[in-house]
Amino acid sequence: MDNKQLWDTLLGELELSLSKANFTTWFKNTYILDRSEDSVSISVPNGFTKEWLENKYNKLILHSLNNIDQKILKIQYIIGNPQVQENIIENKKIIKEYKKQEKEEKGSKLNNLNPKYTFESFIIGSNNELAQAACMAVTRNLGHIYNPLFIYGGVGLGKTHLLQATGNEILKNYPDKKINYTSSEVFTNELIFAIVNRKVEEFKNSYRKIDILIIDDIQFLAGKEKTQEEFFYTFNSLYNDNKQIILSSDRPPQAIPTLEERLKSRFQGGMIADIGYPDYETRVAILTSKALEKNFKLSEDVISFIASNIQSNIRELEGALNRVIVECQLRNLEPNIANTTNILTSLTNIQQSKIMSFDEILKAVSDFYNISINDLIQKNRKKEIVYPRQIAIYLIRNELKYSYPNIGSKLGGRDHTTIMYTCDKIKKEMENNENLRQEINIIREKLYK
Ligand code: ADP
Ligand code: MG
Repeated sequence: MDNKQLWDTLLGELELSLSKANFTTWFKNTYILDRSEDSVSISVPNGFTKEWLENKYNKLILHSLNNIDQKILKIQYIIGNPQVQENIIENKKIIKEYKKQEKEEKGSKLNNLNPKYTFESFIIGSNNELAQAACMAVTRNLGHIYNPLFIYGGVGLGKTHLLQATGNEILKNYPDKKINYTSSEVFTNELIFAIVNRKVEEFKNSYRKIDILIIDDIQFLAGKEKTQEEFFYTFNSLYNDNKQIILSSDRPPQAIPTLEERLKSRFQGGMIADIGYPDYETRVAILTSKALEKNFKLSEDVISFIASNIQSNIRELEGALNRVIVECQLRNLEPNIANTTNILTSLTNIQQSKIMSFDEILKAVSDFYNISINDLIQKNRKKEIVYPRQIAIYLIRNELKYSYPNIGSKLGGRDHTTIMYTCDKIKKEMENNENLRQEINIIREKLYK
């Protein structure tokens, strides 16, 4: 591994464990200047960064470097351009920028709402009109009309969009209300963190101060007894204060295995609305609106072609549309039926063919890159292993729709955030990297043969 690869790998790790503000402020413009057997010199842009890294991050950096190369014992931080006198104004600017970013992050962390999800961009069809109407009604009558509101439906059908839109609408109408959107996985992680750090009281209090609690994917509470117990008390305390609670799940409460009876009956005590599969007209309406959003002109027949061929869920429908847009732009193609057919062939084939297993994916990836399945699972950080592992993670997620925690635990106990980050990373890379797209397609073809 050369110096650049080593540092990039390290930055990749740090990015996961630091807040965005911290990461960009302290690690921007750093690189490895020099490296001997047991020590590394890192170039930093100014004295301020040097001090900060030495005092606050040295341990973390060393620890992370050792995960990659155990021989490294010492780190030196060297100001990249020593001739230039340290500039106090520059330092002040850095601090100011850092504080501003940190504040922004804190602000958005308070509710975790993503402004891109709105009611305006949510297309109503017969599959989701009840759920949409229930969410809308809740925004006008908090805590009373439907409490809790429970929305359920399969993956990619719009639960998160709807929950987030509800939160955003409430925020717009009642800027003073404390809204918290979270997933049951995050809730669980926070609780565990609180237990480990003896901060359970703080955890409880923070949740009980909320006016509107939105928890996405509540099915992940299944089997987590301690979390369920804590959630039960949080739920009751908010509910008794007439605070609005909105939940989503991939199935109705009674069908969530190992969910305590008392929670099931709590959930059933409010309003339950499902989101089903969109019909053809709804799919056309969604495609039309998304193409418009992206400012991409698509003829009616191409839209209806995509809508007829992709019937699974809205995420895939959007994926197919994006694929058509990207390929047409990249390869300068006219978005007509013939080209769309070609572009979508791989996607539609996938839908018609067999269902594969986790082991088959690992086998296909290990065959393709000529490494062992064990290497894929174990904690081996060699670049030639890490890359195929990332591909495997991406494929498992996309072909089998396994949850992030599930993939993490099946792949040698990796953290779900790492898995999530990997999937995102590969997805993004695929947009610009033709080689990567080809590799993944070849592996896919093998799998579907
Ligand atoms: P879920 O949480 O049920 O798995 P999401 O809410 O993440 O699904 O939806 C998947 C994608 O489809 C998102 O990009 C979302 O914006 C989009 N989507 C879902 N339903 C609709 C809809 N009715 N109108 C417009 N976009 C939708
Ligand atoms: Mg979701």
